[in-house]
Amino acid sequence: MSLPGIRTRQVLLLLNNPDSPAERTAEKRRIRKHQVLDAIRRYGPIARVEIARKLGFNLPTVSGLVDELVRDGLAIESEPRRTAIGRRPIPVSLNPHAACVLGVDLGKIVTVGLIMNLGGTILGRMEKSTPTFSSAAEQGQWVQDFVREFLSQHAETLPPLAGVGVALPGFIYRPERAERHLTPEVEEIQRRLEDDLGVPIIVDNDAQMMALGALWFGNAADYQTFCILNIGYGIGMGTVIDRVVYQGHFGHAGEIGHIPFGEAGYPCYCGGHSCLENTASGSGVERMAREAALFPADKIFSALDVADLARKGDAKAVEIWNAFATALARAIGTVITLFNPQAVILAGRYTRCSDVFFDHMMDQLRATTFPALLNETDIVVSDLKENAGPLGTCACILHHIFSASHIPAVAVV
Ligand SMILES: [Zn+2]
Repeated sequence: MSLPGIRTRQVLLLLNNPDSPAERTAEKRRIRKHQVLDAIRRYGPIARVEIARKLGFNLPTVSGLVDELVRDGLAIESEPRRTAIGRRPIPVSLNPHAACVLGVDLGKIVTVGLIMNLGGTILGRMEKSTPTFSSAAEQGQWVQDFVREFLSQHAETLPPLAGVGVALPGFIYRPERAERHLTPEVEEIQRRLEDDLGVPIIVDNDAQMMALGALWFGNAADYQTFCILNIGYGIGMGTVIDRVVYQGHFGHAGEIGHIPFGEAGYPCYCGGHSCLENTASGSGVERMAREAALFPADKIFSALDVADLARKGDAKAVEIWNAFATALARAIGTVITLFNPQAVILAGRYTRCSDVFFDHMMDQLRATTFPALLNETDIVVSDLKENAGPLGTCACILHHIFSASHIPAVAVV
């Protein structure tokens, strides 16, 4: 089933584990096909013989799979080039318009949606303020309406939709553990979007999706191992180890906002009393600004307004951002010491305030972190900045398409 006017591309993205020998054989072939498609995406235009060489597959297998991809409309053959020594191999390229993916980053303050074609070109963007939800059903309905409106704006020009990614803050349980561990929020969103669109829906933790976005689109593309901090209303972390997102046994890795590096004496919803998030986050900055009476009691403000005051030299505002930077530095120093990543990348909504906290954060890091470890780690602001979240949701779908599936090849051999 799908919304009127919205075309879908089935089978390009599959999430289910095959469980019969026949299905396993088909799955193995499908994974190979997507590996070929990925080689075409990365290196195209590329000849079949070159694909075979890069993947270590035999040429007849590659040729058969490329023929299928051309028939499916996913790959395009270039004109054969004639040279003095005869016909040259026909190169093939990815057809970026064969499908599109949609991503939604549901933040506490704003929700951003992106539609992207297979080649990574953004075809549409929609941003709305996020309301406060009183139930999982209300949140699910709102996301459903958001996606319906977004798609209807672009219905006439979009390539067929292959899948949708949705990023949520906090605990998310991975789809393959659905029978034991789905939160009501995830269930609501998945069910409603699947009913509407009939394509696979992946809901995951925002910082973990952001890590994939950094691998696909950002300045992290060259790193093998890095941590990315999502600094928004709260703070979370995505961890990439050897180019794989580390999610933890139950999918909860990276809840860095709840380590006890914030100010003491502030009860947190997690049960802690000194969570990092009470200081090193947008909500933390806003809390400190309220306590310092930085603005009149009836004024609505955000951490961005506190940054504006700091830029003008307001001593209280500078002090608040210094407290933010100090807490953040303790967290980054700990991450560096534990993981020895090549880089710690700062991303999310409040990296647009990095001019008011970055230098103090680095001073604190240098004062408290083992220099040998700190010196070999890049500390950088993501070039994706506040788009890191929504790009991550699209990257998650592209990653599943081009890596064949989340199922490693060994699992179906
Ligand atoms: Zn907490």
